[in-house]
Amino acid sequence: MAWRSSGSSNAELVENLRKNGVFSNQRAYDAMKAVDRGDFTSRDPYEDAPQRIGYNATISAPHMHAAALEYLQNHLVAGANALDVGSGSGYLTVCMAMMVGQTGTVVGIEHMSELVELSTKNIKKHHSEMIENGNVVMIDGDGRQGYAEKAPYNAIHVGAAAAGVPKALTDQLADGGRMMIPVEQEDGNQVFMQIDKINGKIHEKIVEHVIYVPLNPLCILYILYIILLSVRYSSSSWNRLLLYRQVSLIREESRVFEKT
Ligand code: SAH
Repeated sequence: MAWRSSGSSNAELVENLRKNGVFSNQRAYDAMKAVDRGDFTSRDPYEDAPQRIGYNATISAPHMHAAALEYLQNHLVAGANALDVGSGSGYLTVCMAMMVGQTGTVVGIEHMSELVELSTKNIKKHHSEMIENGNVVMIDGDGRQGYAEKAPYNAIHVGAAAAGVPKALTDQLADGGRMMIPVEQEDGNQVFMQIDKINGKIHEKIVEHVIYVPLNPLCILYILYIILLSVRYSSSSWNRLLLYRQVSLIREESRVFEKT
């Protein structure tokens, strides 16, 4: 499924994501069109799949990035303040910065200093003005603590899963703000959670169910299982199916998140 939206250029990849119904939001589409994924990974950048970027990390699949921007669309508005936890390659941080514009700020926080350096280099290839003007700030640190210096945040994206939602992150969410975070459940499955703060109260909602699928002949049984779950839990089952190839990588990331 992940190859369904792949293209031979950034424009074709993003266009295919749109054709396949991954986007509904024009600004999310425009942001991904304006940020060349090829600046952030040299390995098959226009394939709709995650790619390894070294240091035990991956750049997430384009459909995952698109989904994150879609869920955060009303919070990534002009002048907004946002946080990208586990910023890795820096790709999504820049897409978020595109959406908040020149009066907004996005803080990318990453705990591998090598990736902070690499992502800064990646961003400077075509978007150095974002760093110069302070629209993008890359921080070397533990994302579970958030980044209190620039809080509160209208939008928080978390790129690596944890067993629960770190309290520092909900504390740093602005009133009216939204956080999207993958959370590992006790059964080992992961859910993508939407966390809204409304009048100081936290509202949690599971928006995606994701399941690890081993790449062996039993795959087909797992795929059937996913189809059943997708129909049960989701109004847009196709999008859920798109996620399955991503999951093993998310799980890998989640262990990294837990280890530190
Ligand atoms: N969203 C990014 C990276 C996703 S991979 C992209 O698409 O490029 C998840 C990232 O989270 C990895 O880069 C990993 O190093 C980082 N990470 C994991 N645990 C972290 C933590 N506790 N604090 C900050 N970053 C963390």
